[in-house]
Amino acid sequence: AAKAAGKRCVRSSGEAIDAALSRRTRLARDLPAALDEGQLRVLYQPVVGVHDRRVLGLEALVRWEHPLLGTIPPDEFIPLAEEDGLIVPLQRYVLGVATRKAAVLLADGWDVQMGVNVSARHLQAGCLAPDVAAALTAAQLPAGKLILEITESVLLDMHDRLLSDLATLRGMGCVLSLDDFGAGYSSLAYLARLPVQVLKMDREFVAGIETDPRVRVLVAGVVELGRTLGMDVVAEGVETDGQLEQLRAMDCRFLQGYLFGRPMPFEQLRALLSGFDPSVLDAGGPVEPEV
Ligand code: C2E
Ligand code: MG
Ligand code: MG
Ligand code: MG
Repeated sequence: AAKAAGKRCVRSSGEAIDAALSRRTRLARDLPAALDEGQLRVLYQPVVGVHDRRVLGLEALVRWEHPLLGTIPPDEFIPLAEEDGLIVPLQRYVLGVATRKAAVLLADGWDVQMGVNVSARHLQAGCLAPDVAAALTAAQLPAGKLILEITESVLLDMHDRLLSDLATLRGMGCVLSLDDFGAGYSSLAYLARLPVQVLKMDREFVAGIETDPRVRVLVAGVVELGRTLGMDVVAEGVETDGQLEQLRAMDCRFLQGYLFGRPMPFEQLRALLSGFDPSVLDAGGPVEPEV
């Protein structure tokens, strides 16, 4: 019986792999239409100040609304776009939308910075800096309002040309942020070489902050490191009041996570901003998390 069960198990995992492969193949096939037919949607998640929960920034996060398969998360289709050479037009699209929305908010009187995730492939293609410049000009957005979020995948292939492109972006006035800091391969050595002004601490650290004293020491250390280097530190993935309290005690100034708001459509975010009532926050009342 055990043998039969083992066989069944092997077969069903084989079927699972087949299913995953066919979904992947299908998504890769349908991806060009996603761009051409406007199936990509950009959501915005707030980044708030630790003391007053004021919205200080946003992060643009792309989704694919597939006509038959529903919402596809970026972790699933960004890698496909990177393989198929569609990543550059995709990133141009996100940059275009996000900078225009940031300009709308600025015109509304909100002093917020807009974060856009950068693909290593876009940087490798050599056109990130001109594409960013074009988006800023088209949106009439000051460069200092755009934060470019870079992950370790960029760093794995750190040629001098990539570094000089990052320096160009920095020279234009864009803000550079090191995303998912502490996860994967990112190391202190990168911090010394990259011209970044913001550290985004990976949410795995935040997740362990309440339960694991060693993680708490590490997080406090990263916050202190950022402060010493003159960088802004953002904690990602804040979900509980307990995590918020710990981060407040460490004086980690910038927070992002479901506790403050999920990624949401632009009009919902705009409504959230205009409903902002500082007196509620002074009283310590929570801002309703948006779902
Ligand atoms: P990221 O840049 O680290 O973005 C943060 C991710 O954490 C987002 O997932 C966000 O929805 C999620 N998140 C935020 N707060 C919480 C929380 O409190 N708890 C939990 N469990 N998760 C939280 P999302 O939107 O699925 O994006 C995943 C990744 O896809 C991003 O990670 C980023 O690396 C990539 N990505 C998203 N949009 C783009 C894009 O336009 N271009 C590129 N190249 N990559 C993108
Ligand atoms: Mg990011
Ligand atoms: Mg991140
Ligand atoms: Mg990530």
